[in-house]
Amino acid sequence: MKAFTYIRPTTAKEAISAFASAAEGARYIAGGTTLYDLMKLNIERPPFLIDVTAIAGLNEIDINEDRLRFGASVPMSAVASHETIRTSYPVLAESLWKAASQQLRNMATVGGNLLQRTRCMYFRNGADGAYPCNKREPGSGCAAIGGLDRGQALLGVSALCNAVSPGDWPVALTAMDARIEVVGAAGSRYMPIAELYRLPGETPHLEFTLAPGELVTAIEVPRTPAGRSSTYHKIRDRESYAFALASAAVALELQGGRVTRARIAVGGVATRPWRATEAEQMLAGRRLTADRALEIGRAAFQAAQPGRHNGFKLELGARTVADALMIAAERSRS
Ligand SMILES: Cc1cc2nc3c(=O)[nH]c(=O)nc-3n(C[C@H](O)[C@H](O)[C@H](O)COP(=O)(O)OP(=O)(O)OC[C@H]3O[C@@H](n4cnc5c(N)ncnc54)[C@H](O)[C@@H]3O)c2cc1C
Repeated sequence: MKAFTYIRPTTAKEAISAFASAAEGARYIAGGTTLYDLMKLNIERPPFLIDVTAIAGLNEIDINEDRLRFGASVPMSAVASHETIRTSYPVLAESLWKAASQQLRNMATVGGNLLQRTRCMYFRNGADGAYPCNKREPGSGCAAIGGLDRGQALLGVSALCNAVSPGDWPVALTAMDARIEVVGAAGSRYMPIAELYRLPGETPHLEFTLAPGELVTAIEVPRTPAGRSSTYHKIRDRESYAFALASAAVALELQGGRVTRARIAVGGVATRPWRATEAEQMLAGRRLTADRALEIGRAAFQAAQPGRHNGFKLELGARTVADALMIAAERSRS
C-alpha cells in the first residue's frame, strides 16, 4: 500500500475545501471497508484521505411525516436494526441486514455503500497485470467478457464491461425512489438515486456521476404505505456473507386485491441498480397470482444479454422477482 496523508475534519465545509486543495486522487473515506481493501489490492492509490465520519450531522437518522433521512455516515447496522425501518420499510432494513457480516455492517456506512466498486474478480485481482480490465485500466480490454463470467451482469452490459454493481442497499433505494443530498464547492443539491450510477458504455471506468470533491451528506426516502408491503429478496451462493447472484427489491400498493402500483428493482444481475419499469407497468391494475408473478419476473429480464456461463441468472432472476412479489403481497395482508 502507498503512503497517504489522513485527516478527520468535523464540518462538511472543511472536508470539501481540504479535497479542493489536495493532490489529485484524494478520496473521502467513511468505514473504509471497501476503500482500504482496494488500496491493499493496489487498485486505488489515493495520496490523501479525508475521513468523513466525524462531520457533524452525518451520523443521524431523522424520520418525519414526509420522509426518512439517513446521514451518510450512519452505520449500515443502525438502519438494519431500526424499529420503524424494520416494521414499516422492510425492503430497506433487509437490504442492509442481508449484506456483508455484522462486524462489517457496524463499521460500514450507508453513504459508503452507495459508492462501493464492483466485486468483478478480474477488476479486483488483476492490478499486477494478470488480467486486463477497462474499468481499472481504460482501454486495456475485458477478461470477463468471454471469460469466467458466472457472476457477471446480463443487464446494462456493454462491449467493454459486464461488471455487476454490487450493493444491495442501492437496489432497495432505487425501488423506493430515494434521493441523495450532495454538497460541493458550489453548494448543495439533491439527486435522484437513479442518477448517481452510470452505465458502462464506452467509459466503464466512470461509475458515478458525482463531480470530484462532492460529498454525499444524506439519503432521503419518501414515506409511502407501500413500504410496509415490501421486501428485499436476495439469492446467493451461501445463505450469509455473500454478494447477490440475483436480488429483487419490491414494494406494492394494493386495493381490493389488485395492484395499483408496483415498484421493482433488481440487483446482482446488472451493471447498475436496475429499475424494472416495464415489468412494473405490466402489473398495474392486475391481480397478483403465482403465475403472473413469474410472468412479471421474466419481463424484468427482457433486455438481458447473457454471456457464456451466467445464463442461469435469467431464470434465477425471474424467480427471485416472482418470490419477492408474493412475499410483498403477503405482507400487505398482515
Ligand atoms: C467481505 C465483504 C462482504 C461484503 N458483502 C456485501 C454484500 O453482501 N452486500 C453489500 O451491499 N455490500 C457488501 N460489502 C460491501 C460493504 O457493504 C461496503 O464495503 C460498505 O458498505 C462501504 O461502506 P464504507 O463506509 O466502509 O465505505 P468506504 O470504504 O469508506 O468508502 C467507499 C467509497 O465511498 C466513498 N465515500 C464514502 N463516504 C462518502 C461520502 N459521504 N461522500 C462521498 N464519497 C464517500 C469513498 O471515497 C470510497 O470511494 C461487503 C464487503 C466486504 C469486505
